[in-house]
Amino acid sequence: MKEELLTASEKNHTGRSRPASEKNHTGRSRPASEKNHTGRSRPAFEEIYLNLAFTLAKRSTCQRLQVGTVITSSDFRKVLAVGYNGNASGLPNCCENPNEPGNCGCLHSEENAAINCDSPRSIKKFVFVTHHPCRACAKRLINLGNVQKIFYGKDYRSTSSQEILNSVGIPIIKLETPFLYENLI
Ligand SMILES: [Zn+2]
Ligand SMILES: [Zn+2]
Repeated sequence: MKEELLTASEKNHTGRSRPASEKNHTGRSRPASEKNHTGRSRPAFEEIYLNLAFTLAKRSTCQRLQVGTVITSSDFRKVLAVGYNGNASGLPNCCENPNEPGNCGCLHSEENAAINCDSPRSIKKFVFVTHHPCRACAKRLINLGNVQKIFYGKDYRSTSSQEILNSVGIPIIKLETPFLYENLI
């Protein structure tokens, strides 16, 4: 995956390039950014990792929705795993059923990040995901073990997984950040 992330941007079958143009917008407040002694403001870790999730989402070849996930240690010092949605490695780089909402055949980004995460259950984790997790992914994140908080950027068609996460005491928090990428589907 590391090698792949370093390759040049490319156009996929959807005609979208990834990663491509950047679009900043300033209408949203940053979480807990601060000014340092030089007068420059520096972004909060939450903002950095959610933006990383959005950047990763640009790798997705899903025709329905581009989603990215970053799992970090709870002190923000380590990225434990990343993921974005798409078909399994070695299979065609596209959805199996692009017209079926919720059943396009792609692995979900949280699912891929959970698969990629080899940190033990005992390690406290934060999860950053571009879109509100679905119910199945909420359960996957619960079973990662020791997820302390989930941060997300955009609402998904269903937010019913909030009840599941609340019932096991995992807060899910919507962040307002100046996303680098606003042109995700
Ligand atoms: Zn798909
Ligand atoms: Zn999901």
